Amino acid sequence: MSGLFDLSGRVALVTGSSRGIGNALARGLADAGATVVLNGINPERLEASRDAMAAGFPAGRVHSRAFDVTDAVSAAEGVAWIEANVGPLEILVNNAGVQHRVPMLDLDVRDWDRVISTDLTSAFLVGREAARHMIPRGRGKIINICSVQTDLARPTIAPYVAAKGGLRNLTRAMTAEWAASGLQINGIAPGYIHTEMTQNLVDDEAFNSWILGRTPAHRWGTVADLAGPAVWLASEASNFVNGQTIFVDGGMTVVV
Ligand code: NDP
Repeated sequence: MSGLFDLSGRVALVTGSSRGIGNALARGLADAGATVVLNGINPERLEASRDAMAAGFPAGRVHSRAFDVTDAVSAAEGVAWIEANVGPLEILVNNAGVQHRVPMLDLDVRDWDRVISTDLTSAFLVGREAARHMIPRGRGKIINICSVQTDLARPTIAPYVAAKGGLRNLTRAMTAEWAASGLQINGIAPGYIHTEMTQNLVDDEAFNSWILGRTPAHRWGTVADLAGPAVWLASEASNFVNGQTIFVDGGMTVVV
């Protein structure tokens, strides 16, 4: 591992890392040397994920803390627990997210609120708590997991499109307020990645062939495709990158 990308001694929290993309990002950060804290809301699944990952690393490198990222008190308690029990939080990946597919005319406002709070408000809540600890230390990296839906709009996922567009701009707003205090806030916008969230789309033959045709790389992304960009943004190698969102989408957003 080149020193530029070495995360040894850094504490990283990845929200929504009991499975899927978050789990792969946490593993990538741990592979680069970071001490990682996994998060989710289902405690049994989270503990199983932590034990599975911890088996591959020296003792003390993989932790877990269950908390709901949509709740301000839980977010504050989660970050405070990490500071007290693991170490100073230096890397935060705001990854937790949910999806809800319903045409807008049939969309219940409670489902709208659930997606907005999980996919957008959570980044404000956990990001604000992390920043309260990072700013006095004059350093910290925050990575917001956006989506190609920050720039594109598929029908039937309106709250998701609105939340991810908001998250890209929140990345800029955080930069405007916190970059002068030594924090770097950037986004990663994944294309279509094969996880539990997208399993029904992978299984849908028509959608699957649309994705392959619409993606210049002619394949679905894998969770492993996202680890390298996350390690780069978490490392000293990206020290003058501020407020950007990196599209990791096989070229989907550059072609019509
Ligand atoms: P998954 O559905 O596989 O995993 C979602 C994760 O979020 C789980 O760990 C889940 O925890 C956690 N989570 C959900 N709600 C909360 C909450 N309130 N508090 C804490 N944790 C929560 O999703 P993906 O891995 O596919 O997606 C991860 C992120 O990447 C999301 O933000 C998604 O929008 C984004 N993304 C995904 C793409 C894809 O194609 N898959 C493409 C572009 C972006 P638990 O296990 O406890 O339920």
